[in-house]
Amino acid sequence: MTELRRASADQAAFRDELVVRGLLIASGAPGLYGWGATFEDVRIRVDELVTTAAQADAPEAMRFPPLLPRRQLESIGYLHSFPHLAGTVFSFEGGEAEALLQGERAARHEDWSEFQQMTELALLPAACYPVYPAVAARGPLPPGGIVVDAGGAWVFRHEPSEDPARLQAFHQREIVCLGAPEDVREWRDGWCERGLALLRALGLNAERDRATDPFFGRVGRMLAANQRNQELKLELLVQIAGDEPTALASFNYHQEHFAGTYGLTLADGAMAHTACLGFGQERIVLALLRTHGLEPAAWPAEVRRELWGA
Ligand code: ZN
Repeated sequence: MTELRRASADQAAFRDELVVRGLLIASGAPGLYGWGATFEDVRIRVDELVTTAAQADAPEAMRFPPLLPRRQLESIGYLHSFPHLAGTVFSFEGGEAEALLQGERAARHEDWSEFQQMTELALLPAACYPVYPAVAARGPLPPGGIVVDAGGAWVFRHEPSEDPARLQAFHQREIVCLGAPEDVREWRDGWCERGLALLRALGLNAERDRATDPFFGRVGRMLAANQRNQELKLELLVQIAGDEPTALASFNYHQEHFAGTYGLTLADGAMAHTACLGFGQERIVLALLRTHGLEPAAWPAEVRRELWGA
């Protein structure tokens, strides 16, 4: 049973203030918010800064829906590594009698799950996942590999929390590099620097750190130790509300993980490597609001210049 993460007093106060100001719109479910025009304006402008920073890579744009075939999650081992975060789409496939019972139980807010069957779809947990099979389906990579901009996709993580910086549904701006091992690692490391410069130019006190994914269980602890030792995951952390800094961006070197799953090869037939980066868009907006105040019009001139150009 996934437990609700409680907010610290500081996090709860920050969240309440965001809701009162209309920056966030509470849904009634933890970690699920809408937001108002001011929040959205900042989110879009941060996204544009990432687009500008990515121009040097001449990325190919791809866009995907916030759902993916369940089979892809199965193939990449997501249910071994992150069973606690996955969301699967279920739907009704019964007849009239079942529909009636389901409707009655639902109206009373009772358990109607027995009338629901698993569909072939799952919620997208990382914006880069659809990129690997899409590129692999074309055949070997062109010489030099490619960079794909997967845009700012909606992703889902089942981790209900009262901390406004830990959402169950949020936008992850992902860019993916697919190519030879040394090129991919160099791209990943270089982007970590670019990301750090981008956040610091926004007046955020960002720090880089080695990190691990929230792998599940005892085997997960081994995977996490390996990930840390090999520096496969780097994060950029900023203090928002609470005592611990929050990761606003991550830079992940997957080695052969996705390439092996989908048969992604280089032009010479050798196995490709992949890396991805993800900017948590809502977290960056929250960090800006926390750092510079809840009125973007009153933010420091140099931060406003970065975002609005004036
Ligand atoms: Zn990714």
